[in-house]
Formats: sequence, C-alpha cells, structure tokens
Amino acid sequence: MITLLDENFSQLNQFLTEKSFSKIFILVDENTHEYCLPVLLGNLETDISFEILEIEAGEEMKNIQTANQLWEILTEMQADRKALIINLGGGVITDMGGFVASTYKRGIQFINIPTTLLSMCDASIGGKTGIDLMHYKNMVGTFSFPKQIYAYTRFLDTLPAKELKSGFAEMLKHGLIADKKHWEALIKLQHLDPTGVEPLIPQSMEIKQEVVNADFHEKNVRKTLNFGHTIGHAIESLCLQSENPILHGEAVALGMICESHLSYLEGLISKEDADLIIENIQRYFSFIDLGDFKDEDIFNLLLNDKKNTDAKINFSLLSGIGSCIYDHECSTENIQKSINYYKKLS
Ligand code: NAD
Ligand code: ZN
Repeated sequence: MITLLDENFSQLNQFLTEKSFSKIFILVDENTHEYCLPVLLGNLETDISFEILEIEAGEEMKNIQTANQLWEILTEMQADRKALIINLGGGVITDMGGFVASTYKRGIQFINIPTTLLSMCDASIGGKTGIDLMHYKNMVGTFSFPKQIYAYTRFLDTLPAKELKSGFAEMLKHGLIADKKHWEALIKLQHLDPTGVEPLIPQSMEIKQEVVNADFHEKNVRKTLNFGHTIGHAIESLCLQSENPILHGEAVALGMICESHLSYLEGLISKEDADLIIENIQRYFSFIDLGDFKDEDIFNLLLNDKKNTDAKINFSLLSGIGSCIYDHECSTENIQKSINYYKKLS
C-alpha cells in the first residue's frame, strides 16, 4: 500500500487512470501549497477535474472548525461519493484530510502523499485520522485507511531542519521497539539531512506498516508504537499550554529518554543499554527544561492518557534494543525517578 514515487509520479497517474473518480480535491497547507503542490501538478496527468483546498499551516488548525469548513466546501463544490481527496502535507493534513474524507457522506476515498519525515514514516500510515478537541490531541477521529500512500522523498529538501529532526525521533523509536539493525543504522548518521535519512525511510515505513497490519485496532502489539509517548505526550501537552510549545518529535525524544531509564528501573533492560540509548538520543535532541512544570500536573496528564484503564499508568517499555513490551504497569516511584533522572541531564 505504500509506494515510493518515481520522478514522473507514474504510479499515481496509473492509479488515477484505473479508477473512475468524479472529481479530485487536493488538500494542502500554505507551505505544501508553495513547495509541494507545484511538483505534484507538474507531474499529474489526468483528465479528471481538480480543486485545491488550502488551510493555514499548524497544529492549531487541526480542529472541528477546519473540518466543518472543509465539509461545507465539499458540499458547495458538489463532491459526490466518487470524489477523491489527495492529502498533500504533513501529519496535520493527513490526519485532517483523512478525518474529513472518512466522515463526509459516510466516507469518500482518500490517498496520502506525505511531505514531512514524520508523516512519511508515521502519521500517513496506519489508518488513524483525527482532530484535536480543546487542548487534547486526537480526541475525535476515525480508523480509516487511505486507498494508497505515495511517498516522494525529494519533498524533504524544503522541510525545515527542526521538522526533519522531529520525524527522526519516530524513526529512532521504530528501531528501538522492533529492529536493532535499523537503530544502529540510524545512529550512524552524524548530521541529519534529507540525503542521509532518505535510504533509511523505507525500513521505518515497513516497521510501522507491519505493526499496524498485525494489530489494526491497537489491542496488543500496536501499543508498542506508544513507546516514548506516555511521558512524551504529557510534556507535549504542558508545553502546548505554555509559552514554549515543542514539536511532537522533540517530546517523543524526551519521552524515550525517560522511558528507557524507566525500562532499566523496572528491570527490563540493562543499565548499559539504557545509557547507550539515552546518549545517542541526546546527540540529536537538545535538553528541554521541565523546571516550570509541577510533578502533580505531569502525573494528572499521565493518568488521563487514553491508553490507561482503572487509574493505572500503563507503559510500553523496552525489553531490549529492538524489542518492546506493552501494558506494563509501573510504580509511581519509578515513574517519578525517571522524570527526575531527565531533569538532572541538563
Ligand atoms: P505538520 O503537518 O504540521 O508539518 C510540519 C510543518 O512543515 C508545517 O508547517 C508544514 O506546513 C510544513 N511542511 C510540510 N511539508 C513541507 C515541505 N515538504 N517543505 C516545507 N515545509 C513543509 O506536522 P507533522 O510533524 O508532519 O505531523 C504532526 C501531526 O501528525 C500531529 O498533529 C500528530 O498528532 C499527527 N500524527 C498522527 C499520527 C497518526 O497515526 N495518524 C501519527 C503521528 C503523528
Ligand atoms: Zn508520535
């Protein structure tokens, strides 16, 4: 289902020729409009008429108001059930476009063309669509698969370095939870740039796809993808409400440091392995000061996590470099210790 596009986008053109769509809607944000849409349109060979739907860039747009605007535009433009939405963008666009498509007229078809590293290796794969509600991320959404995912890695050439790094955090996670060799290949990279990262993208995509195929509804093994995300999400939420929001991948990197140390505290991995993982993550991601956050606030968010049941805090933790367990209940004392450990890393 994931296809790496050639220079002429011939696989996409063939897909459009084989299907009989009534109309195509291409969803972009202002950046993918500027940097990616010209490349797509320059290669698109189809007789089907198309419209461009543009939203402002940023997580703040991933809400019900934007979804409502898009549903209204689709209605005004008489999109029928044979229309196709092409989501051309990062995770905000693929989450939003997938959500709008899967709910409009009880579901129309959509394809994802991810343009950030994070969306190529993670967000565009796996069939989760959604929007944020108040300051809670991804609270409303659907499980719905895109018809196709087309990745074109040259789109990364215009991606800001900070965004590239954010996506790299998810690639590191894929190595840590499922594939030691992939992790080792990733940490060989001295500098993060599109040329260095590009050859490693297919393996990261494959890991995500395989985990999702094994457990689409996140009843078991898909939970391993949440490694680094329990503490990471809590800190991400606190930062989003503060004056210093951080990118998702930066929060995940912080979360992976805490949760690698927690894996050691819970007796699941050796101190040597935990330290090695942490040293390597620190090579790419700078320290985030948690000084302004109260431990009580962090714990409240951990307890609110969607993954928890019965007021217990469950974690996906490493049982080695390249293997991961899930539904592991940790003692409050060890969770606190892992956060304190991070605070002392400055
Ligand atoms: P994003 O979509 O906001 O993109 C980041 C920034 O890069 C934006 O400003 C965007 O306009 C810009 N951009 C995108 N492509 C570009 C390009 N080629 N050149 C220049 N600029 C470009 O963010 P993201 O990091 O891709 O995704 C984060 C979102 O993904 C979050 O909302 C998160 O919840 C979601 N997500 C979803 C899943 C899932 O399974 N559905 C998984 C992980 C993350
Ligand atoms: Zn993530």
